[in-house]
Amino acid sequence: MKKPFFTTDETHQIINTIQETEKTTSGEIRVHIESRCWQNPLRRAILVFKKLNMHRTKLHNGILIYLALKSRKFAIVGDKSINEKVPEEFWEGIIKNIQPYFQDKKICNGICEAIRQVGEKLQEFFPPVKNDEDELTNEISIGN
Ligand code: CA
Ligand code: CA
Repeated sequence: MKKPFFTTDETHQIINTIQETEKTTSGEIRVHIESRCWQNPLRRAILVFKKLNMHRTKLHNGILIYLALKSRKFAIVGDKSINEKVPEEFWEGIIKNIQPYFQDKKICNGICEAIRQVGEKLQEFFPPVKNDEDELTNEISIGN
């Protein structure tokens, strides 16, 4: 059997970080992880974003943190309302910030840090709303 990407504890840690971060913003954050990416990671992330139906949030502020671990390719892609506010380079900055975690093989910590940094930016433009719904599941999406 293939080794899973995360232990049960790590999975909970990531899901909790998403949950906590989503209390600070109406944005919806998801994480997708897979082994390899054979193309441009941003293009792959856009495809995964669509596959996960992440464009169906009311405010169009879903955001995906995409990781292809073995290929060492990462991308962050947001829905249209986010793109109107935040330039793509900003997300590249977050990816750079978390590279050291990946070099140290602290994948889970790196992902949680990315979630927090994404959340910090989202709350500037997308503060929490009343009667917030969890529009997109906080579960990690796992690819091949
Ligand atoms: Ca929400
Ligand atoms: Ca959510």
